[in-house]
Amino acid sequence: MTNDPVTNQYEMRDPLSQYPRPPFPKQPQPAPGLASRMDPKPDHGEDSYVGFGRLKGRRALITGADSGIGRAVAIAFAREGADVALNYLAVEESDAEEVVRLIEAAGQKAVVIPGDLKNEAFCQELVERAVDGLGGLDILVNNAGKQTAVDDIADITTEQFDDTMKTNIYAMFWITKAALPHMQAGSTIINTTSIQASQPSQNLLDYAMTKAAMANFTGGLAKQVAAKGIRVNAVAPGPYWTALQPSGGQPQESVMKFGEKVPLGRPGQPAEIAPLYVLLASQESSYMTGNVYASTGGTLY
Ligand code: NAD
Ligand code: MG
Repeated sequence: MTNDPVTNQYEMRDPLSQYPRPPFPKQPQPAPGLASRMDPKPDHGEDSYVGFGRLKGRRALITGADSGIGRAVAIAFAREGADVALNYLAVEESDAEEVVRLIEAAGQKAVVIPGDLKNEAFCQELVERAVDGLGGLDILVNNAGKQTAVDDIADITTEQFDDTMKTNIYAMFWITKAALPHMQAGSTIINTTSIQASQPSQNLLDYAMTKAAMANFTGGLAKQVAAKGIRVNAVAPGPYWTALQPSGGQPQESVMKFGEKVPLGRPGQPAEIAPLYVLLASQESSYMTGNVYASTGGTLY
């Protein structure tokens, strides 16, 4: 086995040495953060994800698709044959452009729809523009998220609390509500929750509660739409090396040690979680609905 760069997601490797381990340099940047400014650069599967047509002809809307987990999912979906509509914030345009290039290089269509998900009218418009641009909608990935670490509840402002709720919960609700009328039997919804849903950190009170709400919503909605043949699941990442963390998601001291505490001793790279989304989006997971699938480096969800 080898420490060389990953050439495809099937190559047998030692997971301990497959990707960088802490310590990492401090690297503060303002939220929402850019993947291009991270050190080391995250692996979103740019050079390694190999697709096999598992999502051929599907049409997917992914929020937070410019960077991190959303980018890895967008690359994987495109290489599996799906067209992709991407949402992100306008300040993340440079990250998003890289993703568009990769989707197009895979021979698929990319529809860019930047905008702020804290706004209900925009969430509705996002779905309409995705449906128009893609010619329909088969897969929705509610992945955008806001995480701001604060040590003391006394210092969590109402503005932060409100923004976290809006970005993580309200947007998922608004987008899902708008998307369902466009979906048919076989369609799937995937929500990015977190290990924080079941194991909340002391400095992520507002964030962790939104992730618990997302897992709960996933279970209830799955029951509601089962009779329509639509499946709803959630993915729960542990520590993943994305712009969310150094841009205020963790204190810089924790960024330096990020992933150290999990059994595998390092953070996951976005490329390592994309296959879970592909599975949940594809017909392979036809009997899987209403559940949470975790990728945590060894911590029980
Ligand atoms: P990321 O910063 O790369 O992606 C998050 C994205 O959310 C941003 O790129 C941004 O486009 C989007 N976003 C934030 N606020 C928005 C707003 N108001 N309007 C529109 N878009 C907005 O980081 P990531 O870690 O890939 O995050 C993706 C998801 O994974 C999030 O839901 C996050 O909570 C979840 N998650 C991440 C980790 C981790 O360790 N990185 C762990 C568990 C869960
Ligand atoms: Mg981003």
